[in-house]
Amino acid sequence: MIRHTRLGALLLALALFLTACGAPGGESVPTPGPGETLPTPGPEETAPAPTPEPTPESDPYDAVRSYWTEAQLTQAWGPNQTVEHLFFHPVIAYPQWAFHDCPSPQSQKEGLDDWMLTVEEYKKILNSLYEKGYILVAIEDVWSEVTDETGAHMVRNTLMLPEGKKPLVLSFDDVNYYDYMLEEGFTSRLVVGADGQIWAQCTDPYTQETFLTQDLDATTLLDQFVLEHPDFSLNGAKAIFSLTGYQGILGYRTQNDRDLPAGDPNRPAFDAFRQSEIEAVRPVIQRLRETGWTFGSHTWGHINLGSATRTLASVQTDTERWLEEVGSLVGPTQILFYPHGSRPDGDDVAQSGPMLQYLHSMGFRVFASVGVESYSKIKSDLSAVICDRLHPDGTTLRWQRDRYLRFYDAADILDLAVRPDLGKSW
Ligand SMILES: [Zn+2]
Repeated sequence: MIRHTRLGALLLALALFLTACGAPGGESVPTPGPGETLPTPGPEETAPAPTPEPTPESDPYDAVRSYWTEAQLTQAWGPNQTVEHLFFHPVIAYPQWAFHDCPSPQSQKEGLDDWMLTVEEYKKILNSLYEKGYILVAIEDVWSEVTDETGAHMVRNTLMLPEGKKPLVLSFDDVNYYDYMLEEGFTSRLVVGADGQIWAQCTDPYTQETFLTQDLDATTLLDQFVLEHPDFSLNGAKAIFSLTGYQGILGYRTQNDRDLPAGDPNRPAFDAFRQSEIEAVRPVIQRLRETGWTFGSHTWGHINLGSATRTLASVQTDTERWLEEVGSLVGPTQILFYPHGSRPDGDDVAQSGPMLQYLHSMGFRVFASVGVESYSKIKSDLSAVICDRLHPDGTTLRWQRDRYLRFYDAADILDLAVRPDLGKSW
């Protein structure tokens, strides 16, 4: 880990000044590079960035993409064999802060205990998944839409794997770096470092030092793990991000503010700031795409689609907004991850209600919820798949050890030295 330099401090002061002058949002802190040289990954580098090591000619990720040759992929994993699907939230970089020292209310700390993993727990889980023979596959390769005499419908593809490996899809929810997370011991955004690789910007909550790291963020930790274990990935696949849009994406405040009219005096500053965030996130998206990450929707506003009071009109507004503010940056997707795991109407395989039909009409084909197994069913009345994901987190580590033993043993993972004393069933 490299701490930020005087240059970083200077730029920080400049950014605070600019923020005070009216730039909205709290996310305009420039980024010190891993070689202490790169002020920001954006196009307007104000300082020369002499890298300590020359940028390598070849992409280190090439070794992952090409690790398995076609001749080695001799095991057919058919449509009736389960493709396991696990999802993670952002991991807690500073657990002592998150669970104990930070000033947020107790209920919030218990929420983190329920739904999040610490960095150390997450690292152990990745290692166990690898040791138990799982191999990462792209969710986009699991199902396809085909059209025949009966019309368009989804099919489960047969995956070709190396002998002895079991396919695994990973999804990462809410990789938006919400404001609350920045106060509770998480990293704050993904950036492209001076070496061309993805790094996480992080501010130590105790010292307020801002630095870049690859050791404290779920994304960069998986990047590192796959570089070290290229046989863990099939054709370079890693995971899919499930993104909302209401506080931007990947730590960049790219969202629009519809309540700010065109003639409002704050509009020009807001638009300029937003545009700079959009330009800054583009190279991050590009590098993530190059290294096996893909993108799906988690709705714009993290809305509860299964709520009794949810209206179709609100789903339409939310979806249009996601496509306009997020889809326009990350590219088209067919995959929707239900916030709160909450399905809209038409849960049944043969019965799709108006909300699901609308989401289908907007291009979504795979609708992922949360459950107790990696369930999936192809719908018969609509060209779509409904599926469930398992959730490695505090609740399942404490209370569902048996259900996850094929992936890892919670007794080896759960960090009771730092987590609050909230019990366990084993
Ligand atoms: Zn979520």
